[in-house]
Amino acid sequence: MCVRCGTPYQLLQYKKQNGGDQPLDAPPRLNVKESWIPVLKRYWEETETFTGLAVIITARDYPECVEGMRKFHEWLGLHPGVVPVEEEPE
Ligand SMILES: [Zn+2]
Repeated sequence: MCVRCGTPYQLLQYKKQNGGDQPLDAPPRLNVKESWIPVLKRYWEETETFTGLAVIITARDYPECVEGMRKFHEWLGLHPGVVPVEEEPE
């Protein structure tokens, strides 16, 4: 993830090969939906606060992420209009 704002990027990527996972030499992959990028940008511009997104291991080991996510969700609650409306799958 970005160490400044907390936008999630996946650094280590793997591909299935011969029944196992082989490391992939690839640039970081953005792990948020396209529709959330403007929301994350606005959050950063307004608060310059770490979002804490992208913790995929045990949250208790990353208290700054837990606090960041708490603040981000609090901000989302105050700005309900910014949350992207998801299209229903057909
Ligand atoms: Zn960032």
